[in-house]
Amino acid sequence: MWKRSIKEFGFRYTKMLCDGDSKTFQHLNEEKVYGPDMIQKEECINHISKRLGTALRNKVKEWKVKKVTLGGKKPGSLKETTITKLQNYYRKAVKDNAPDVNKMKKSIFASLYHCMSTDSKPQHSKCPVGEKSWCFFQRALLRVRHPNLTKK
Ligand SMILES: [Zn+2]
Repeated sequence: MWKRSIKEFGFRYTKMLCDGDSKTFQHLNEEKVYGPDMIQKEECINHISKRLGTALRNKVKEWKVKKVTLGGKKPGSLKETTITKLQNYYRKAVKDNAPDVNKMKKSIFASLYHCMSTDSKPQHSKCPVGEKSWCFFQRALLRVRHPNLTKK
């Protein structure tokens, strides 16, 4: 299909949407279907964030076999709701900061620390500040420091 596109339709594909499996993408660039012109890869953000969720669920299962409980309902455990939360924050971090990989990384770590926070040990120092922050702690902090701001 890729090789025929120029001959039959007079165009070439420039980007490929991947679902996390990059074997086809690698193959196409190794084959050099368009000579030296490389094909670019774009990842589906939903697939990427789903893979994080799957990896975390697998970790919980993997450690359960070793008789170590990561999941469960007690505070601080890697329960299903926490995994879903991490997955959503991860998705948002990638989406909001693309294509800046360093910003993505910073934002992903911020969301991890945010989710690890407890009342006795808050870890929101990496969370974005300001009244538009997704972090409730940083928003509350701003209201304490500037009580004249209108509440939203
Ligand atoms: Zn936070």
